[in-house]
Amino acid sequence: MKHRLKRILRGLWARLLSYSGLYLLVDRLMPRRMLILGGHCVEHEECNGCLPGDMKMSPAGLEAVLRRLGRRYELTTVTAGLEALAAGRGRSLVALTMDDGYRDNREVLQPLLAELDATATIFIESAALDERKVNWTHKYFWLLDRIPPAEFAREYATHCADERLGALLVAGAVGARPAYEMKRALKYDADQAERDRTLDEVFRAHGGDERALCDRLYLTWEDARALRAAGLEIGAHTVSHPVLAGLDPKRQEEEIAGARRALERGLGAPVDIMAYPFGRHWDVDDGARAAVAAAGFRGSITTHAGTVGPGSDPLRLARWMIDDRTPAHLLVAEACGGFDLLRRLGLDLSE
Ligand SMILES: [Zn+2]
Repeated sequence: MKHRLKRILRGLWARLLSYSGLYLLVDRLMPRRMLILGGHCVEHEECNGCLPGDMKMSPAGLEAVLRRLGRRYELTTVTAGLEALAAGRGRSLVALTMDDGYRDNREVLQPLLAELDATATIFIESAALDERKVNWTHKYFWLLDRIPPAEFAREYATHCADERLGALLVAGAVGARPAYEMKRALKYDADQAERDRTLDEVFRAHGGDERALCDRLYLTWEDARALRAAGLEIGAHTVSHPVLAGLDPKRQEEEIAGARRALERGLGAPVDIMAYPFGRHWDVDDGARAAVAAAGFRGSITTHAGTVGPGSDPLRLARWMIDDRTPAHLLVAEACGGFDLLRRLGLDLSE
């Protein structure tokens, strides 16, 4: 089905459920479920001003979502939610998750959750805490916060041996969504090691200081332990946030089992759940899923929409990435199982 038509039908169905009150009936008829919501940051200029807007929610926007869903569903962590589903007890659930391990999660998110008597699962990249290193996307965002896309593309091309990639970036810089198009090329069309080296050169040529950027953006071990002590769950998000698909088995093991070992060492507590970096199905392959199972994780989360039930594949847990533009009627429709109901009828409007 054409994407635009799907979007229109999705909006119509969600409005019908939400504004007619039909969602109450669907919620009762559909099996118990957990809706996992995903985000990265809560807006805080000092902590995350240089990150793109679609990685941040306003405190008021996030509070509205949690208050609304919290009236009907139990707000939980992912692992506690999976346990409740398996045990077949309680209400349907909503689990908020935040990826990467940003400092605002302690400065802004945790106090907000405490006020709402809510909790969340935070997925942490262990190299940021262990080595104070940021993954390549942060050097990229930092540069785009300072120089226009076309200048970035030109500078990258002069430092990079890969002419084809340089040309893709130059073309992306004049596209409709330059930041997105160039990031996509850097993610899927570059050799990962070569890209990391080149970005680091451009970053340093502009006076970038990786340690200072990491201190500004990321949690520390002390922060992570404090979040856990406050009742949040800490999950793994690999060591250095690569696209896992296509990595050799040894690197997959280092990134996946290595992250679990690092987090358990840093926290002094078990870590049972993981979220795949980037999280689309094509970012993960059978080898990566096998490595998640072999590392002993209870499951791992994607960024494909849907809800989770007792019979869901633990290595492909669905999650809905939200931001301030997510309409309330879509949230209501997904949480009540409205899109699951259509899926059972053979119509997948979820994304
Ligand atoms: Zn991530």
